[in-house]
Amino acid sequence: METIQMVDLKRRYARLKSEIDKATTDVMAAGSFIGGPEVDTFTRELGQYLNAPHIIPCANGTDALELALRALGVQPGDEVIMPAFTYIAAAEMVALLGATPVLIDVRPDTYNIDPALVEQAVSRQTKAIVVVHLFGQTCDMDPILRVAKKYKLGVIEDNAQSLGADYISSDGRTRKAGTIAHIGTTSFFPTKPLACYGDGGAVFTADSQLAERIRCLANHGQAAKYDHRAIGRNSRLDALQAAILRVNLRHMDDDISRRRAVADRYDEGLRALPWLRLPARSKFSTHVFHQYTFRVSDGRRDALREALRSQGIPSMVYYPKAIHEQEAYKWVARTCGSMAESVRLAQDVLSLPIHAEMKDEEVTHIADRVKAFFQK
Ligand SMILES: *Cc1c(COP(=O)(O)O)cnc(C)c1O
Repeated sequence: METIQMVDLKRRYARLKSEIDKATTDVMAAGSFIGGPEVDTFTRELGQYLNAPHIIPCANGTDALELALRALGVQPGDEVIMPAFTYIAAAEMVALLGATPVLIDVRPDTYNIDPALVEQAVSRQTKAIVVVHLFGQTCDMDPILRVAKKYKLGVIEDNAQSLGADYISSDGRTRKAGTIAHIGTTSFFPTKPLACYGDGGAVFTADSQLAERIRCLANHGQAAKYDHRAIGRNSRLDALQAAILRVNLRHMDDDISRRRAVADRYDEGLRALPWLRLPARSKFSTHVFHQYTFRVSDGRRDALREALRSQGIPSMVYYPKAIHEQEAYKWVARTCGSMAESVRLAQDVLSLPIHAEMKDEEVTHIADRVKAFFQK
């Protein structure tokens, strides 16, 4: 058997080589590398896919968060509510802006922000809420948006992991993840659901004033050439990445279907193990399975990981610490209420290889090795 990877970018390139090679050589022949028609076409196509009126491409998913926070006017002294169990980028950008990340706990089943805990975290300093649609499915947005409306807070969806997922609101309306709240952000890092071959990111919004502000901030604060209205930054997506993204966008829904089939096969193979708590599937969201992440309930997570590693099977811990447990954030972030679920998840979770190029026999092999670990 070939070496199994968490995400197999070599196998993917081999599969899509003719499309990728044509797309990239066309850009090089056209000689337009920053901005230009390829970037414009990609943003238009992504806007159609998401049904998002404004897409602002930028350099990476972390910049996208900073641009979104600044567009909402987050300033020193403000507070921003966010989950304690997540990737570091949102807390990092809030802290860099001189504002305070206010952490709340997450749900033990979906690992996403617990909407019931949002309102108690609101103070007079609260400016915004950042929700993170973790591992491939959305947060429960309706109750969060209700609190946001009541206190006039901006809501940002960090959608770096769940691009393509559908959120189904309580009125039955379906919308793409990242287009439900005021601003959505994403990353096109090579392992994300929509990937380029380097760095890239984007911000989405339906609000044309916010869109204009984000566009201005991403382009040196320019309202027009050499007319600087704000202290901005240089954050842009290049044409080669846009060309690769256009190829991957065409395959996006097939990739999602394939990852769902992999997840179903894992579920099937692992269902009988009482030591595992398999990934929950929300009623209000489809799951694009950016990660297949389960919980190991008896403290043997690290032993399982080591046993798999010794048999050539990679796995990852996303994430080994909650935000407030990270050295740099101990004094910067504030916690609101118990962080028990976040702390426990950091000890329990394990993510297995999942990607669109995975073969059925590889999935079965991994599930068999996990079973063998518990049943020996
Ligand atoms: C990857 C990721 C980011 C950061 O994206 P970059 O492009 O690496 O800056 C932010 N938030 C989440 C949830 C992510 O998974």
